[in-house]
Amino acid sequence: MVDLSGKVVVITGGARGLGAAAAQAVVDGGGRVLITDLLEAEGAETAAKLGDAARFLRHDVTSEADWAAVLEYAVAEFGRIDGLVNNAGISTGQFLEHESVEHFRQVVEVNLVGVFIGIKTAIPLLRAGGGGSIVNISSAAGLTGLALTAGYGASKWGVRGLSKIGAVELAEAKIRVNSVHPGMTLTPMTAPIGIQTGEGNYPGAPLGRVGVPEEIAAAVAFLLSDAAGYTTGAELAVDGGWTA
Ligand code: NAD
Repeated sequence: MVDLSGKVVVITGGARGLGAAAAQAVVDGGGRVLITDLLEAEGAETAAKLGDAARFLRHDVTSEADWAAVLEYAVAEFGRIDGLVNNAGISTGQFLEHESVEHFRQVVEVNLVGVFIGIKTAIPLLRAGGGGSIVNISSAAGLTGLALTAGYGASKWGVRGLSKIGAVELAEAKIRVNSVHPGMTLTPMTAPIGIQTGEGNYPGAPLGRVGVPEEIAAAVAFLLSDAAGYTTGAELAVDGGWTA
């Protein structure tokens, strides 16, 4: 288990799926976590299961005002922040040719602009605390060109690029910035596309199976921890070899 004792981490989109698994990993490692999400009932339930080391706040990652409130709440409850996991995201597939401009904008707004606002808002706090770790959840679709992901893939490539810019610019503040690139993983997001049954548009990974949220959470926990103290600007694929 990764040692995260004493760390305070904010995780967006943490009500369920990969974000909830990452929150569990933080608490298991001895840290404290503020879960945020649009889903109020699920988010409150997920935080309650984690006990006193966890809190929940409703949050739309596209809102600057919400971001300010989230970080204020984290400091009010826990006194500081050491880590930020930009995990919230939306995904719906469409071929480029059929993608609407409106939908493309919506996906980029949540998946990329939301990450940008989060990083920008957290910088002063992390800087004041002497540094920290930002982990941005991109995708295997941010490492390769995956069909049926016009807005999604573009946003995830953007998250990967933003992470590298952050790594270079924020190193002087001892803020590390890395991206994690999950392959197909069993969560509510992927349930409708039939990956459990081998149906749908899933091309398959060399390891011969899809991932589970705990496997992505383990990578996130490592990047949040001091064990990753010399790791910044990295793109960590956790995809069963899909993009190898
Ligand atoms: P999920 O749908 O289970 O969880 C995503 C969470 O984000 C949801 O709880 C949702 O309510 C929240 N969210 C959506 N829009 C939001 C907004 N505007 N503000 C705040 N919260 C919002 O999906 P997941 O599979 O757990 O995905 C988590 C992240 O991992 C996403 O960024 C996704 O793109 C990425 N990812 C997932 C997979 C996979 O196979 N599951 C693969 C690669 C990347």
